[in-house]
Amino acid sequence: MSILLTGGAGYIGSHTAVELLNKGNELAIIDDFSNSNEKSLEAIKKITGKDFKFYEINYMDREKLEKVFEENKIDSVIHFAGFKAVGESVKEPLKYYHNNVAGTIVLLETMIKYNVKKIVFSSSATIYGKQLSTRYVETMERKSSPSAYGNTKIMIEQILEDLYKSDNTWKVAILRYFNPVGAHNSGLLGENPKGIPNNLMPFIQKVAVGELKELTIFGNDYNTPDGTCRRDYLHVVDLAIGHLKALEKLDKEKSGVYIYNLGTGSPVSVLELVNTFIKVNNINVPYKIGARREGDLDECYADPSKAEKELNWKASKTIQDMCRDSWNYIQKNIKGE
Ligand code: UDP
Repeated sequence: MSILLTGGAGYIGSHTAVELLNKGNELAIIDDFSNSNEKSLEAIKKITGKDFKFYEINYMDREKLEKVFEENKIDSVIHFAGFKAVGESVKEPLKYYHNNVAGTIVLLETMIKYNVKKIVFSSSATIYGKQLSTRYVETMERKSSPSAYGNTKIMIEQILEDLYKSDNTWKVAILRYFNPVGAHNSGLLGENPKGIPNNLMPFIQKVAVGELKELTIFGNDYNTPDGTCRRDYLHVVDLAIGHLKALEKLDKEKSGVYIYNLGTGSPVSVLELVNTFIKVNNINVPYKIGARREGDLDECYADPSKAEKELNWKASKTIQDMCRDSWNYIQKNIKGE
């Protein structure tokens, strides 16, 4: 039996592929390389010494997707594929609704056709929006997002819940990621976006290697201990392991929709992250304080206790590990891919 990974060549998909292969699973990966490339597939093979099936397709291509189900005995799907640039999604909402939402519907219809009813979905803490408490619990309501990206995550969560209502033999795990950072400690896999990164850690990495001149910290007048925003950064390998635990959970259950926060539960400020990066890597990262970025929340972090209790999952890597592994990776992969 194989596990199908949509978007398995991407940042989180590739790290999850490594953990799944290391545990002896058979994999079929699909990816259209819209935000990844073959290098990560080679890296997965090098790290694990194992092979897998790969198809360069977009998951909206029903015919080609069906071929993947024909050629493999798919038992479950981990669905990573999707566009994720928040700013771009505001400018081009239809691109996001088309690919992320319509694409997921094609995937789910194909799963039904081949009687595969077990799925783990990559959701995001963004679905919580602004809440009264900054420690987010799974029971909090989903809040409409200012970005189309955020709204695609909300819609797909809703689609999965409605699907379960219509057919309660489905097994669904929705994983709400907080802020994944870091890289595989081999330095072979990591995140290295093309152009100017939107997210904090890739930006720090590019300043550290000299590709960008300095980091601008977006505001230091927030309601936090040092005035800079606080987030819940978690190591991508911890996050990858969360997917294995979610699959194990679904295997144990008869059916149902299970929602989990994946985060450390400890908020870290922008300044703390930058200073830790500087300290553990003994490298200069020039930065200045700039204006606030529109829409940023003072603070948000996970209550990860449900995942700990029900999945036996707990983030184990520290902020130091995240900074060390991010630096190790970027030094070995200076050119953006
Ligand atoms: N941030 C920053 N400078 C940058 C990029 C991000 O100061 O060049 C800040 C941003 O304002 C936020 C934090 O870093 O407070 C994390 O931002 P990111 O976009 O990585 O994650 P998100 O805001 O989506 O949680």
